[in-house]
Amino acid sequence: MLHKIPLMRLIRLSIPILIFCILAACSPAADEQMIGAKIYEHNGSYDLLFEAWNDLGINTGFCSQELISDQDFMRQARDHGISTYLIFPVFFNPEALAHSPDLAAIDRGGFAAVEEWVEFVCPSREEYRHEIVEKARQMVREHAPDGISIDFIRHFVYWEKVYPDRDPASLPVSCFDSLCLDHFQHEAGIKIPPSLITVPDKAEWILLSHPEEWTQWRCELITSMVEEISRAVREEKPDILVNIHLVPWSEKDFDGGRMRVAGQDVAALSKYADLLSPMTYAHMVKQPPPWVHSITEDIFLKTTLPVIPSIQVGRAYLDKEFGLAEFRETVEEALLAPSGGVILWSWERLIAEPKKVELFKEILEEY
Ligand SMILES: [Zn+2]
Repeated sequence: MLHKIPLMRLIRLSIPILIFCILAACSPAADEQMIGAKIYEHNGSYDLLFEAWNDLGINTGFCSQELISDQDFMRQARDHGISTYLIFPVFFNPEALAHSPDLAAIDRGGFAAVEEWVEFVCPSREEYRHEIVEKARQMVREHAPDGISIDFIRHFVYWEKVYPDRDPASLPVSCFDSLCLDHFQHEAGIKIPPSLITVPDKAEWILLSHPEEWTQWRCELITSMVEEISRAVREEKPDILVNIHLVPWSEKDFDGGRMRVAGQDVAALSKYADLLSPMTYAHMVKQPPPWVHSITEDIFLKTTLPVIPSIQVGRAYLDKEFGLAEFRETVEEALLAPSGGVILWSWERLIAEPKKVELFKEILEEY
């Protein structure tokens, strides 16, 4: 009986429903959801691959350069109604660094920023940036994918091993090579005291005296790269869709680490993209499945673009079991409004576990 519910309780009950309705109205209809899979290589028939995708409900492939360059792969994808996105790494480039080690991003200690397999190119190198932009342009011109999925578009950080209890102050901040220091001083109008000679001294002074200007300037280095790549690929193919891989951190995590460490300003990046995809690999960063939804929501509040979380399918980095129940919950959390769908990382990992293939199909059918 409505009149027996106290007014305040009615208001309290209505707020979550109202929020849900707004979020649901802003997210694409269920039949427009992107159900994607990252795929890096495939041995065997593409026809059978895409038939399996049609059967499961996967409508979009996020594909390696090798697959996008394969005419048969692209033709079969089109014939099966599968959209193709080229996964395009930007500042992670071990080949370029092996060839020219002096391209490396420099950490606050004055050393090349490296942690296990993670090493990044300094984002201020004009020649490198130009080469990457032209490579994107050429790939789109030659292979005409439906989209480009810009990856490693950030500053150096091995976020895959950053766990919830990590001290934010211990996260890496780069790049402090002489070019970045020169550009920062010139563009931000800040002069590093001439008495400071070593990189650690200069880095410490910047981080203590001008942390906000430094973060802002570093975010612009990343945003401008997205702008340049987007412009080039849209010149080649005006209807191409641009996706950006985001670190899976909310705005406040790790003392603002999304901008302070990774240099990803979601609102600014949104101007040059069509969709955003946080790499919400919950299990490997020691987070529970609902965390996938919380990150999606946090990003959604900063953008007008669809946000499509990418989720982990198999075990990675940690030995801990990633079972069916956890996988189910992760998929369900990823699909909750305001999500625009889900992207599996990866197809290879999914087919390695046939029970997860069946479960994924079951969840999508229920959905
Ligand atoms: Zn640099």
